[in-house]
Amino acid sequence: MDQETIQEFKKQLGEKKEQLLTQLANVGHKVEGKGNNFEASYPDYGDPASIEDSANEVADYTTNLSFERDLENELRSVEKALQRVAESKYGVCTYCGKDIEKERLKVRPESTSCVSCKKAIKKEE
Ligand SMILES: [Zn+2]
Repeated sequence: MDQETIQEFKKQLGEKKEQLLTQLANVGHKVEGKGNNFEASYPDYGDPASIEDSANEVADYTTNLSFERDLENELRSVEKALQRVAESKYGVCTYCGKDIEKERLKVRPESTSCVSCKKAIKKEE
């Protein structure tokens, strides 16, 4: 893959990372330490004696939890892809070592496998 294309995808990945970090900040907060580790925030809707407030807190916390987990998984993939850019391994399938289709990377720039390997993996599941 040529450098220009890689830089284009790198830019996309950087933007995606920013978006994910913004979204994560909405449903959770950063955990102290190295890297971007987040955990879901527990909402506080006021009166702890109010059954309704407490029920809403639990419901929204559950939503935050699953949303936060999805976002963080995506963030990991994006960070890994950026790492691969840094190591000049970007755009190469981790399974067969061939170039990943550009069309696939356009849809999902953090992809680490080519279309046929991805299909093969799906079949195994
Ligand atoms: Zn492959």
